[in-house]
Amino acid sequence: MKRILLEVFLVAALIGASVFGFMNQKQATVSKAKITELTAAVEAAEKTVKEKEEGLKAAEEEMSALQGEITPLEEKTNQLEAVKAALASGSTLSDLENAYKKEKNLSAERQAGLGALRMLTKGAEDPGALEAFRKALQLSELGDRKNTICAAQLGLVAAGEKIKVMADCLPKSEKAGRGDKEDKDGHDKDDSHGKKEDGKGKAKDDGHGKKDDGHGAKKDEKHAAAHWDYEGEMGPEKWGKEFPTCAKGKSQSPLDIKGPFLKSRMVVSADYKEGALKMINNGHTIQVNIPPGSKLRVDGIAHELLQFHFHKPSEEKIDGKPMAMVVHFVHKNADGKLAVLGVLLKEGNENPGIKTLWANLPKEQNVEYAPEGVNFNPGNLLPREFDFYSYEGSLTTPPCTEGVRFFILKTTVNIAKEQVQAFPFKMNARPVQPLNGREILSN
Ligand SMILES: [Zn+2]
Repeated sequence: MKRILLEVFLVAALIGASVFGFMNQKQATVSKAKITELTAAVEAAEKTVKEKEEGLKAAEEEMSALQGEITPLEEKTNQLEAVKAALASGSTLSDLENAYKKEKNLSAERQAGLGALRMLTKGAEDPGALEAFRKALQLSELGDRKNTICAAQLGLVAAGEKIKVMADCLPKSEKAGRGDKEDKDGHDKDDSHGKKEDGKGKAKDDGHGKKDDGHGAKKDEKHAAAHWDYEGEMGPEKWGKEFPTCAKGKSQSPLDIKGPFLKSRMVVSADYKEGALKMINNGHTIQVNIPPGSKLRVDGIAHELLQFHFHKPSEEKIDGKPMAMVVHFVHKNADGKLAVLGVLLKEGNENPGIKTLWANLPKEQNVEYAPEGVNFNPGNLLPREFDFYSYEGSLTTPPCTEGVRFFILKTTVNIAKEQVQAFPFKMNARPVQPLNGREILSN
């Protein structure tokens, strides 16, 4: 009996041990699975944390790079704010306005500067700023002062005016976007330039100023100062780089005038009035600016005389021959169409009109000079006879805008050799351009 009991006990113990062992084993398996699971979870969590950290690091790097870009911008903004604050009282503006008040006619550059100062002082909506930029644009449209035109156009845009800004004035990236079109037809761009007239010139260009005012400016400085010239690295062969129409245009001026001619029935007459003399040396020529009231009539249509200026030798040739000089009288009609009347000056007797002009040559470049009490009648430079050659051409200076009607008088006017020599430019004539099938009329 005892033995049976013992065996039962042993069996029970064995079973218990087995069960216990089984249980433990099961428990261990479960735990192991759990540990594996937990390990995986920890690993995943670590991975996530690592990834997040990397992301964070990249974001931090990006932020610090942006900060590098933002800081200079902030500085600029701060500087602009400082400038605005300094101008806020308006005393700088009123000082400048007072200084300018004495001058009857401000140059385009000064008008643009005044507009910019008004805008900084009084804000973009200031009507005075708008007016100043408009005047600057009007004045510079007749010249080749690209930077001033840009300043005035961009100023007007900043003031909320909806005007077309010349492509050359746009920042590079924007320009690239429109590139194609503009390359194809320079007109697009030129039109917005406003026709400068034949520009002749006006002001040196962008009013950068003095080309080399005799200081012996170094080549580099000169380069920076003028975008174009009559010889050298910025001579007529290179104008097309910056002013595409100069190279690609098909009706460019000047021309070598020779037959066969078509008969012209146009009736042309000049009605020029005496007015206060106003002259400017724009670095490319001597130009006389004309107050309103002098007109050229073409078939009864009035073209207002804006300015006249000189080229030496004459840009136009007659049968291959240039004259000593030429005067270009530049007119604009109500539709904006330009007409240039050319009077060839031939070496001979002294010219009294030119004597008056040369006696009053501006001493400084790019500043309009109005000698006290001196009047001038542009008609003094015209011959009596008005027979002419006529053709469609262009400004003979950059941007070489086309759509300009030329009338070159057949009768020349005298100028003394000494007067030719006294003209302050050695040579300021663009070479003659291809006719490209254009007809030259003769009356
Ligand atoms: Zn000219």
